[in-house]
Amino acid sequence: MPMAATPTRLAVVVDAWFDGERRHADGRTTFSVEDGRVIAIDRGDHGAALDARGWRVERGAFLLPGLVDAHVHLFLDGAPTDGAVRAAHLKQDVDRLAEAARAGARQALACGVTRVRDAGDRHGLNHRVREEARRPGSGLAQVRSAGLGVKRARRYGAFMAMDVDDEASIRSAVQGLAADSDEIKLILTGIIDFDAGAVTDEPQFDAAAARCVVEAAHAAGRKVLAHCSGAKGLAVAVEAGVDSIEHGFFMDRGTLLRMRDRALAWTPTFCPVHFQWAEPAAVGWSPNTVGNLRRILDAHAEHLRRAHEIGVVVLAGTDAGSMGVEHGRALVDELQRFVDAGLPLDAVLAAATSAPRRHFGDAAPTLSPGTPFEAVLLGASPWADFAALRRPLQVWSHGRVGAAGTTVAP
Ligand SMILES: [Zn+2]
Repeated sequence: MPMAATPTRLAVVVDAWFDGERRHADGRTTFSVEDGRVIAIDRGDHGAALDARGWRVERGAFLLPGLVDAHVHLFLDGAPTDGAVRAAHLKQDVDRLAEAARAGARQALACGVTRVRDAGDRHGLNHRVREEARRPGSGLAQVRSAGLGVKRARRYGAFMAMDVDDEASIRSAVQGLAADSDEIKLILTGIIDFDAGAVTDEPQFDAAAARCVVEAAHAAGRKVLAHCSGAKGLAVAVEAGVDSIEHGFFMDRGTLLRMRDRALAWTPTFCPVHFQWAEPAAVGWSPNTVGNLRRILDAHAEHLRRAHEIGVVVLAGTDAGSMGVEHGRALVDELQRFVDAGLPLDAVLAAATSAPRRHFGDAAPTLSPGTPFEAVLLGASPWADFAALRRPLQVWSHGRVGAAGTTVAP
């Protein structure tokens, strides 16, 4: 007979908190957590009374739901910015890459990112880490895994996707992948040519082929996240009815309206492009290319603001693992881009908490009684000090995790 877990009682008393949608800043609040689940959220400071009854009591200025990074590649290491080092990383054997993926998930959790959506990896290490992260006390961020994506032969995306050909091959590939993948990754376009300041190649899939991917995924109960930038690819993505557009550079207002009407989410992933703009020497970009990067980022920010205004669902995703984009740490950088674009802070934080949970189909996407206690304790309110998000005092996921990333029993 399996042993029941020892009941654990934790009270967290904070000055203010964010539930995933709204800030509550009208006085102290006490969260009562039993066996890792929120059982009550009460106004006032009930810490002393609960302490007298043997509860452990933690205090801090601000509590918010565990952060979600909706676009990462765990098996890639974003820290090295030297092309040769990055190429050598990919050539390592699978066990070493698995260790890198684990390290990425560990670092994410230490940064307050309790969940990541892995957007593709050709070895399926995202699935492996997903399993490992399910063990309580793993010290790893939980993983929603897109496994291996689908792409066209001889086109961009070999590090994260398999080739598909005609409609029959698309259907059988997607059906097979859907058995293990939480979502299906579609590599719809290539990447941006920064020297040209544009997406210069044709989309990998036309609307009919992309719709075939979407129909096969939906038939298997899976959503489709589409790697897509440039006007032609965006038109295909919207017409095919994918569930989220990843990157989406060279966005336009008409596409945003269609995305809003079709409840199609957008993960704008500023981080990798921002890094190339901020550190052009890492890639050797010319002043002309740096100018292109700035224009691309400014237009992206303008479209993000527009997306927020008209009600497009926005997900915060960093593309961590890309050059200069480190797991965990990058998420607050991405949120800073959202702030800089002019989004109000509640919308910025919702993009990294309730919006991705709702997109992933969570029954309870906000921090409320009855939900698992997946939360981050801060020393200051992000409304007073945005950088407090970079210094979590405590992170709770399955267990209790210190800010330094060491896991102890809850
Ligand atoms: Zn990606």
